[in-house]
Amino acid sequence: MSDYDFDLFVIGVGSGGVRAARMSAAYGASVATAEDKYMGGTCVNVGCIPKKLFVYASHFNEDYRQAQGFGWDKTAAEFHWPTLLENKNQEIKRLNGIYLGMLDNAGVTHFDGRARIVDAHHVSIGDKVVSTESVLITTGGWPVVPEFPGNEHVITSNEAFFLEQLPKRTLVVGGGYIAVEFAGIFKGLGCDSHLSYRGPLFLRHFDQDVRQAVAEELAKKDINLHFDSNVSHIEKNADGSLKVCFKEGDEIETDLVLYATGRSPAVSDLGMDNVNIKCRDNGAIIVDDEFRTSEPNIFALGDVTDKIQLTPVAIKEAMAFAQTQYLQQPTVMDYDGIATAVFCQPNIGTVGLTEAEARRKYDDIDIYRSNFRPLKHTLSGCDEKNMMKIIVDKNTDKVIGVHMVGAEAGEVIQGIAIALKAGATKAVFDATVGIHPTTAEEFVTMREVSA
Ligand code: FAD
Repeated sequence: MSDYDFDLFVIGVGSGGVRAARMSAAYGASVATAEDKYMGGTCVNVGCIPKKLFVYASHFNEDYRQAQGFGWDKTAAEFHWPTLLENKNQEIKRLNGIYLGMLDNAGVTHFDGRARIVDAHHVSIGDKVVSTESVLITTGGWPVVPEFPGNEHVITSNEAFFLEQLPKRTLVVGGGYIAVEFAGIFKGLGCDSHLSYRGPLFLRHFDQDVRQAVAEELAKKDINLHFDSNVSHIEKNADGSLKVCFKEGDEIETDLVLYATGRSPAVSDLGMDNVNIKCRDNGAIIVDDEFRTSEPNIFALGDVTDKIQLTPVAIKEAMAFAQTQYLQQPTVMDYDGIATAVFCQPNIGTVGLTEAEARRKYDDIDIYRSNFRPLKHTLSGCDEKNMMKIIVDKNTDKVIGVHMVGAEAGEVIQGIAIALKAGATKAVFDATVGIHPTTAEEFVTMREVSA
């Protein structure tokens, strides 16, 4: 125990903060945390968890329709938004309690309220000032809406989780995974759903075949996709609806505009001026391999450092931080081969390099690609197709990228990610006996190199 009130003060109890606090305490540090909004951070309250619950809710619409091909009578399925909202809120409340309990059980002292850095060894929470040997900043990120006339009429994903009413018509602006997921959620729940993106095709960092396949599938589901489209201004009509005007000259009448155009590191009102912490132009805190900032006793990890903005990444970084600082077990975070999913409908699952990245990095690669109708849709009446793709370094036979668009792609790719982490070759994929009849078996039966 140091001469300070605490060994470590963690600012922000989100995915990274809670794990870092718990593990550091478990390794013997005296730890305090502060949280000014919600226990569990973005993921639990306005991110992964409520988003996935909404995705489940929205998919029932299709499930009901598809059930008829399997002999189920037309069911008069009616959706009740307040029930979903209430049940979701109850579940989040339960999770908030679990997070607080986890800190409590770990012996962490928790402060409710906004924390500010007073100097390198002091943090204030309201009127209270505590001293600490080290500080860990895990304040996450916050959605950004660009400046333009009428931007006061738009919402972000934060508000989308608490809408009093489900609008009839929606427009999502953005081309990242959050935009694509929300366009699908709104469509599934029965809205007339539009998505507008300024570039020629959304999901910029994903494999080109994935992007193309998703665009085709969303269009089949009657999600109105507007590419190369830029909002110029938004006007509010007398009846409360919105007129969205585009620089290209067209207009959309809608009831809700959701901007999912990026998130910036949450560093404002944090007392950053009181210390010497270097940030990138977008505010992201610069850290070294140990998550140490340019102020030697202040650390940062998770979305506030803007590396890979995913919950499991923040958690793994937190583990590495705690092990290095309080278990005397230096651990460097490995950012290679991080798998991810997008919960659009159908899902994307992806791990490793895209084809474009692989072509830049390797002299000679083989591509195995498969597009097919999954068994379920032989009777469902739905013309959804799966796209599955394996990228192989020809010189070593190592599988360097695997991509999928299809139902439960995230579940499938999680297993494949383990194989890639273990360095699996295409020969290992080929030697694996498939599970029949599944979609995933395609990954061990693809033999033909694509043109
Ligand atoms: P956060 O979880 O954001 O936690 C930061 C916490 O710090 C917040 O609770 C905030 O209130 C608090 N805070 C900020 N400033 C202060 C202060 N001064 N004092 C006290 N407290 C403060 N990731 C996935 O892996 N899978 C997904 O499917 C997924 N879906 C997402 C969907 C949406 C709509 C969004 C927005 C994000 C999604 N993410 C997903 C990303 C994921 O939520 C983040 O990567 C993750 O939460 C980052 O964790 P963190 O610990 O860095 O920050």
